[in-house]
Amino acid sequence: MTLRCAFCNRPMLAAAVFVGAMPIGPTCARKAGLLELARKKSGVLRMARPCTSQRSPDPQTMDLFAEVERV
Ligand SMILES: [Zn+2]
Repeated sequence: MTLRCAFCNRPMLAAAVFVGAMPIGPTCARKAGLLELARKKSGVLRMARPCTSQRSPDPQTMDLFAEVERV
């Protein structure tokens, strides 16, 4: 299976960002500023590889440990 960048149609090893179902390569994503947009989770943009360290807590779920750490 060969991934092709939806912007430049060049084959790539891994997409950096997805716009909907379209994979965008790291070079095009950076040039178009998609990486920054994807980090902000705007619209249909999302990072191809979920970064657990930057993952924000689920707003629907209380963080059980936040209160303990602050006290
Ligand atoms: Zn590209």
